[in-house]
Amino acid sequence: MGVSGSSTVRLIGAPVALADGPAGVESGPAALRRAGIAVRLERLGYRVEDAGDIESPTPADTAGPGDTRARYLAELVPVLEDLAAVVRQAREEGRIPLVLGGNHSVGLGALSGMTGAGDPGRGDGGRTASLGLIWVDAHPDANTPETTVTGNLSGMPLAALFGRGRRAYTGVGGFVPGACRVRPENTVLIGVRSVDEGEDEVVADIGVRTCTMEEVDRRGMAAVVEDAVRLALDGTDGLHLSVDMDALDPAVAPGVSVPEPGGLTFREARLLMERVAESGGLRSMDIGEVNPRRDVGNRTAETAAELVASAFGKRILPNR
Ligand code: MG
Ligand code: MG
Repeated sequence: MGVSGSSTVRLIGAPVALADGPAGVESGPAALRRAGIAVRLERLGYRVEDAGDIESPTPADTAGPGDTRARYLAELVPVLEDLAAVVRQAREEGRIPLVLGGNHSVGLGALSGMTGAGDPGRGDGGRTASLGLIWVDAHPDANTPETTVTGNLSGMPLAALFGRGRRAYTGVGGFVPGACRVRPENTVLIGVRSVDEGEDEVVADIGVRTCTMEEVDRRGMAAVVEDAVRLALDGTDGLHLSVDMDALDPAVAPGVSVPEPGGLTFREARLLMERVAESGGLRSMDIGEVNPRRDVGNRTAETAAELVASAFGKRILPNR
């Protein structure tokens, strides 16, 4: 098996929709399952366990957004705590966690579970990550309550992974305020083409490598992918891959809540997945922001399922 030595993938549904915006992302995990993620992985030789969905209220289930610069914070934090715990358990049982979102706040829950306390053999008590991170997204998701336009926490998980934002959000997974889940030098954003005012300063201040679509256009995806995998695995034990389906062009992935023109082609995204699989370093993954209500058929979920298969080792010619 080419992926981190384990042969069992645990699917974890995270139907998290706690943000203002078009409804539908809570049905993402169901759409991804319907697209045959499990069977595609089984065809590659994996055992697949499905842990079902974690519980998450929708905005309609709540009394309202509360904190206008961090909407639904009070409801979202316990959901992401649950997700982090389920991911941590999967990791401790030697499974490869594959989180099916849900909006992209699930990236914070997933990474917090992968890097949180409880990992024996780490002199720092497990508080410093030994994972690299490749974050594939049209958006840096590095807003803070100070820079946000929408107040949506789904636009803030990357900042929170580096300790920036509301204390409760940055503390998901039992981390102390200000803690980093991963090292900035092992973190790469790919596909970025829509950055809010002030958000670029947060990204620069954190110090992560940002590969914009302009860089993809100028250098080509192959060069960008090589840099990303090298940086994510430089001195780490492996990498986490976090895929927001709005990284792809809306022509291939129309079913997302915040589509942005000028995105990755299917082939560019697949190349990244193939290279990650080839590296042998994939330890966990989340994929989300699939919004079935905005989709054309189930095309976006099917594209996502195909990308997952490539990240776990599917090749065009399997025997080469
Ligand atoms: Mg995102
Ligand atoms: Mg996005």
